[in-house]
Amino acid sequence: MLSYQHAYHAGNAADVHKHALLALALDHLVQKDKALTYLETHAGRGLYDLTSDAARKTAEARQGVDRFASHLPDAHPYRRALTQARMRHGERTYPGSPLVAQTFLRPFDTRILAELHPQEFGGLQDALRPHPNVHLRQEDGYAMLNAMCPPTPRRGLALLDPSWEVKAEYDRVARLLPKIARKWNVGVLMLWYPLLRDARHRPMLATLTAALPDAMQHEVRFPPARDGHGMVGSGMFIVNPPWGLRQGADQITHLFEGRNAQ
Ligand code: SAM
Repeated sequence: MLSYQHAYHAGNAADVHKHALLALALDHLVQKDKALTYLETHAGRGLYDLTSDAARKTAEARQGVDRFASHLPDAHPYRRALTQARMRHGERTYPGSPLVAQTFLRPFDTRILAELHPQEFGGLQDALRPHPNVHLRQEDGYAMLNAMCPPTPRRGLALLDPSWEVKAEYDRVARLLPKIARKWNVGVLMLWYPLLRDARHRPMLATLTAALPDAMQHEVRFPPARDGHGMVGSGMFIVNPPWGLRQGADQITHLFEGRNAQ
């Protein structure tokens, strides 16, 4: 079952949270000359058109990137990723996580990205084709991550950004992440999860925090995108957070608290 399409949600408040933290982490990792591996289990199509029918139907970007981004300094890594995408692809485009990552990765860094949906995979190929050292896989991202870890180069970051369409995914992730952290003990692992009204992420988080007590957890809350919408916040569980990420995350907390108050 693959009914989720990120085009309806690109640039929403959860994307701002997730992509801002991803940008901060990668910006830090590339300060060293040493090559790294960037892995994504659920890549999406890489680039989104905020004037598309899908984006206009939900208008979620209005409560997300349109509302928050200008309140970050121009030099903020997330602002830099937005600016680069807009300059290359148009003012009303939005970079998904693969293009946010592209802003920071260097030609000698390895990228391995999985996306199962045929249409999304096609879009991802279009978005990343010109770049060197990119390996795109139309396969299950969890299986790909498990098979690739530990990767070469060993330094690096993996983003897990499931669509959470199937409830069983919470159990699967709760089992998989500690296993990956054992196999790849230096890898930065970033898991995104939604804060839903029924808090169905809680048992998974309890398992993860017990298994990985030193991991960083960062959550922001925001009003639902529309009446009856179940998502009321966004969370990231981060194993081996890069130095400075906690401080960067505090700035994101203030951004959301400030905007929510208005
Ligand atoms: N990471 C993207 C971003 O931030 O721009 C958004 C990804 S979206 C939340 C989740 C994506 O995962 C969808 O495009 C969906 O087709 C894909 N997907 C769902 N299950 C998958 C699986 N088991 N393996 C790989 N991709 C999957």
